[in-house]
Amino acid sequence: MRPRDDAVDVAEPLARAGPAAPHDASGEQVVTRALTGLAPPARPARRWTPRRVVAVPAALDHPHGRRIVDRVEALGIEVERLRANRLTGVRGDTDRETYARAKSTLAIVVSPPSRRTLQPIAPSADWRVDLAEGCPAHCQYCYLAGSLSGPPVTRVYADLDDILANLAGYVGRGTVTSRRAARVGEGTTFEASCYTDPLALEHLTGSWRRAVEHFGAWDAPVQLRWTTKYADVDTFLGLPHAGRTRVRFSVNAAPVSDRLEGGTATVPERLDALRQLALAGYPVGLTIAPIMPMPGWREHYGELLDRIRATVTGIDRLDLTAELITHRFTPGSKEVLLGWYPRTRLEMDERSRRRKHGRFGAVKYVYPSDVMGDLRAWFDRELAARVPAVRVLYWT
Ligand code: SF4
Repeated sequence: MRPRDDAVDVAEPLARAGPAAPHDASGEQVVTRALTGLAPPARPARRWTPRRVVAVPAALDHPHGRRIVDRVEALGIEVERLRANRLTGVRGDTDRETYARAKSTLAIVVSPPSRRTLQPIAPSADWRVDLAEGCPAHCQYCYLAGSLSGPPVTRVYADLDDILANLAGYVGRGTVTSRRAARVGEGTTFEASCYTDPLALEHLTGSWRRAVEHFGAWDAPVQLRWTTKYADVDTFLGLPHAGRTRVRFSVNAAPVSDRLEGGTATVPERLDALRQLALAGYPVGLTIAPIMPMPGWREHYGELLDRIRATVTGIDRLDLTAELITHRFTPGSKEVLLGWYPRTRLEMDERSRRRKHGRFGAVKYVYPSDVMGDLRAWFDRELAARVPAVRVLYWT
């Protein structure tokens, strides 16, 4: 028998307080390579097939919970119906084993009641709305590392209809896009990828398609937003989105995406998906993150921008934004990431960073001011020159 602390409360959120930036790993090979600190080679991402899927009893009281179960079972994956909100069998004998088990587990749960009170998510959007927490990919800088507690099981929310219905009370109340002149055209914005990667899970849940349709039918100045490192957009192309969903693709220079992003779609695949959505009339965007000043960074990021320019050439009525986010880490995220990826070559050396205090006094390590200045000046200049259609929303 396993000790009692083997149990994980699947109804509780993974997330601790604090903002996370937005984001298939398929099979043991990806997990194994991630554990050794080696990202799998760039290749088309396969759809994630969790090795274990569980559903808590309360999830089955919700129509969307039952829809997710039907969808997963139709894919030939067995769904374990739990008797209580406790999931056992996730913890292994070592941290690595626990990580591998959790990363290959999907839990269908109900979101915690606290999630009905939305939190601001500057500088991305007015409000954060969570349809899931956790992600099956293996990025060695993962944004979730400092924000999660417990084994990184992916939880998807069965109470989607209630989550979406709750948003109406927030229209016009945000401070990021609702009230700022530069972004007021976006309306009240809801960010739906703070603790997950929507397109990594969509084939299992259908949640983001329903959200797109909800916003499409919502005749108000509102916008749904999410960012992804996947490219599976076919089922979104014909949706009645009414231009009220902006999908951004998280992209990076080849040394980062090839070496540090395990199990995601390749950058060319993501950009191809961006083009398809833009041609289908969606507002689209780029999340260039995490920006890193690796050797030859001007050339590497220059190649990325040239690829972006080629991607968006010839698209009528293109609405393209960019969000630029430099790499940073916290003491907590570094500890978690080194546990997940002990052989990572990701630079997280406090001595080469500037210490900064975030909201509520939390410490984070960012690049020194001169490095930051060089990066920002280069991106300002080169984005304007190489991708003039892009509108930069923020740099951080
Ligand atoms: S795509 Fe990568 S960075 Fe984003 S949540 Fe998943 S593992 Fe983390």
